[in-house]
Amino acid sequence: MTTQATTTPAAEITEPAEFADLRARVREELARHVTPERLNRFDEAEEYDLELYRELARAGFVKLDGELHGPGPKHQAQAVVLEELGAGPTSIGVSMVVQYMGVQLLHSYGNHAQQERFLAPLHSGDARMSFALSEPGGGTDVARAMATRGSRLDDGSYSISGQKKWIGGAMEADFLILLARTSDITGSAIDGITMFIVPRSTPGIRTEVIDTVGIRGLEQCDVYLEDVRVPAENVLGEVDRGFRQVLDTLNGERLNGAAVALGIARGALETAVGWARERQAFGRPVGSFQALQHGLVDASVKIESARLFLRQAASASDAGPGTNETWSAMAKLAASDAATTTTDVGMRVMAGWGFFRGLPMQRYFRDARLYTFAPLTDEMIRNYIGEKHLGLPRSF
Ligand SMILES: Cc1cc2nc3c(=O)[nH]c(=O)nc-3n(C[C@H](O)[C@H](O)[C@H](O)COP(=O)(O)OP(=O)(O)OC[C@H]3O[C@@H](n4cnc5c(N)ncnc54)[C@H](O)[C@@H]3O)c2cc1C
Repeated sequence: MTTQATTTPAAEITEPAEFADLRARVREELARHVTPERLNRFDEAEEYDLELYRELARAGFVKLDGELHGPGPKHQAQAVVLEELGAGPTSIGVSMVVQYMGVQLLHSYGNHAQQERFLAPLHSGDARMSFALSEPGGGTDVARAMATRGSRLDDGSYSISGQKKWIGGAMEADFLILLARTSDITGSAIDGITMFIVPRSTPGIRTEVIDTVGIRGLEQCDVYLEDVRVPAENVLGEVDRGFRQVLDTLNGERLNGAAVALGIARGALETAVGWARERQAFGRPVGSFQALQHGLVDASVKIESARLFLRQAASASDAGPGTNETWSAMAKLAASDAATTTTDVGMRVMAGWGFFRGLPMQRYFRDARLYTFAPLTDEMIRNYIGEKHLGLPRSF
């Protein structure tokens, strides 16, 4: 039975040519390598499809338009790639969000030597990185909860000890960009934290895979750090200002999370509509029943709304700092809602077949949960919009 519908979303028709071309290239590359069987196999085996990731990097989808010592790739370009990956190999999409985070941090705060050593192999796909911020004590209020310490030694190097939690891809990463507290909290908790680039092979690092419900094609890890020695040249950005510097790029990560969530929603909708057209009950397609049709229509409206938010937010981010953060927050919320709503509707439309692990709906349903809380929870996003957009008193 065919499970894909051919829908052309209204917002896609008006996409600027530069990004429509990029979208077509990503689709072509995915069509060349990805089959439903391949996606299912890696999800079931809980394995990362490294070969596919390398093909995508070789095709230029990590580097995009970012020159080694330039400002980094456009947010709009990142969003296009991530939506396409979200709709297909979602775990690769999530891993690409992490790579773009590393790419952006190295473009923004890396010196020339760091860009040559760490960014160039990321661009080419010869290296992968993990971003290690969250800790067992908390992800939302992570600056206050941060127990990982970076202690400066007499020769200027650092000794890092502590634990990071939920770190995507850390088992196989070539290096980590990790944050550690380097000065005690005296005023704001977000001060006194430093970013470090740490090769994964540095002695004192141990990783363990965490068993998770979704995104099973990318391992999430506990990372244990015990007296990990890092030279001063591997400090990324400014000592004690690392968290503030990361906050500037988290806006981009929010947008990128929204793009993957939008892709999940679109993939689930196409699968559900294809099913609704073909599956029969009472002598007619189940998609002819109004109860199901309305659910699919409402999901499609959420998807197109999220797409418009995302495009607005990404183009505002490319234009420079300003109103982009509120747009990005709204895009994240809209896309997370579109993904959870659409996958729920998809499960209803497919009923028993939605439960079948051989078909993709259950994977979309599980994977969609990630972007309700990562990289920032929907509740914190609402707090932000309440304060910055509505001018209400800070709620936390
Ligand atoms: C699959 C997966 C991949 C991940 N990848 C990475 C990664 O690569 N790198 C990394 O560093 N981290 C990663 N994370 C961690 C992720 O960013 C955190 O899970 C997230 O930030 C939430 O933190 P928490 O889970 O500790 O929730 P908590 O901080 O414990 O929050 C619990 C609940 O309290 C609510 N809450 C807290 N404060 C407030 C408030 N002021 N107002 C209203 N509600 C509030 C939250 O919204 C949430 O509902 C990943 C997690 C998963 C599961």
